[in-house]
Amino acid sequence: MANKRDYYEVLGVGKSATADEIKKAYRKLAMQHHPDRNPNNKEAAEKFKEICEAYEVLSDADKRQRYDQYGHAGMKSAFGPGGFDFGRDFSHMQDMDLQDILGSFFGGGFGDIFGGGGQRRSRNPNAAHRGDDLRFDLEIDFEEALFGSEREVDLSVNDACETCRGTGAASGSSRETCRQCGGHGVVVVGGGFIQMRQTCPVCHGEGSMIRNPCKKCGGAGRVKTPRHIALRIPKGVETGSRLRLAGKGESGLRGGPAGDLYVVLHVREHEVFQRQEDDLVCTVYVSPVLAALGGEVEVPTPDGHARIKLPAGTPNGKVFRLRDKGMANLNGGYGDLHIRIETEVPAHLSSKQKRLLEEFSALATPDNFPEAAKQNKAVDTFFARRDALLKHTAK
Ligand SMILES: [Zn+2]
Ligand SMILES: [Zn+2]
Repeated sequence: MANKRDYYEVLGVGKSATADEIKKAYRKLAMQHHPDRNPNNKEAAEKFKEICEAYEVLSDADKRQRYDQYGHAGMKSAFGPGGFDFGRDFSHMQDMDLQDILGSFFGGGFGDIFGGGGQRRSRNPNAAHRGDDLRFDLEIDFEEALFGSEREVDLSVNDACETCRGTGAASGSSRETCRQCGGHGVVVVGGGFIQMRQTCPVCHGEGSMIRNPCKKCGGAGRVKTPRHIALRIPKGVETGSRLRLAGKGESGLRGGPAGDLYVVLHVREHEVFQRQEDDLVCTVYVSPVLAALGGEVEVPTPDGHARIKLPAGTPNGKVFRLRDKGMANLNGGYGDLHIRIETEVPAHLSSKQKRLLEEFSALATPDNFPEAAKQNKAVDTFFARRDALLKHTAK
């Protein structure tokens, strides 16, 4: 213990370093000097022990305080007569591999250390890898959502290369652990305390590589393959509905299972029917004459034409509900169809039509237009009150 280095110096932090700074410094150094990354390197192993010891003390508030006060001498009482009990206290740390060290700090995420994140790192270079899920957006007609349909779609999917059976390696060879990074997928660059970890440039973070790549797929193990897929679209789907086709996504690597294909549906708007959840709304235009006299009107439904009876004096905007004539729903039932009656002002009148309408108009009384009569009465009241008020203020 004669020339034991100062713990702060070991971790390269100041005496006032926060717990977080200490943790960061430890993480960085532990990764760098970890025995896994420095096989058969005695110096690195010693250094790693030193780092662990320093961290053990400085990461513990009590021990750190005692160390600050008494230095290494204070640690003797903390660790027993022999000083720091090396074997007992952090043999477990030596057994940790790098991923465990990282995982213990990041809950498995590597993002903020490597600045970017998302690196895939396989501890076993020959491990199976599940294929990615794929998303395919499909626009369908309203009628397809209403009645269901069968569709065929053509995709381009990364499929296992037949030549190398997905290994990426030419026949007779296989993936090998990357020599540059020792399989860790990261390398250390720089020197002293300004060291940075970077994604290994040789294996691009994979930790393994193919020395003799398959000619067909260039080592990727997968090739873009056109795929023809028959889809059954059930009735009742809506925009945003997802159809999952298990195992129809990208093929796996090295024997891993294929991913799934998700087909996300987008239903086109329709000119006749508008959807409101399971119900359908349809506007039917009628002549004011029909609305006034009453009569039958033909309306469209998913089952074909239907006729509804308008009573005499049907107001504009009146809604008739046809039960169970809407969309299918997932419970096996159906929504309703709402027929909304809209009167249309007649256009392009012939002279005879004009004459007949003028004749009608001459015979019309306020009683024929009760809404207008009611409104006119309210207008009269408004002006009467107005005049009374203005007369009063003019005085
Ligand atoms: Zn291949
Ligand atoms: Zn590498």
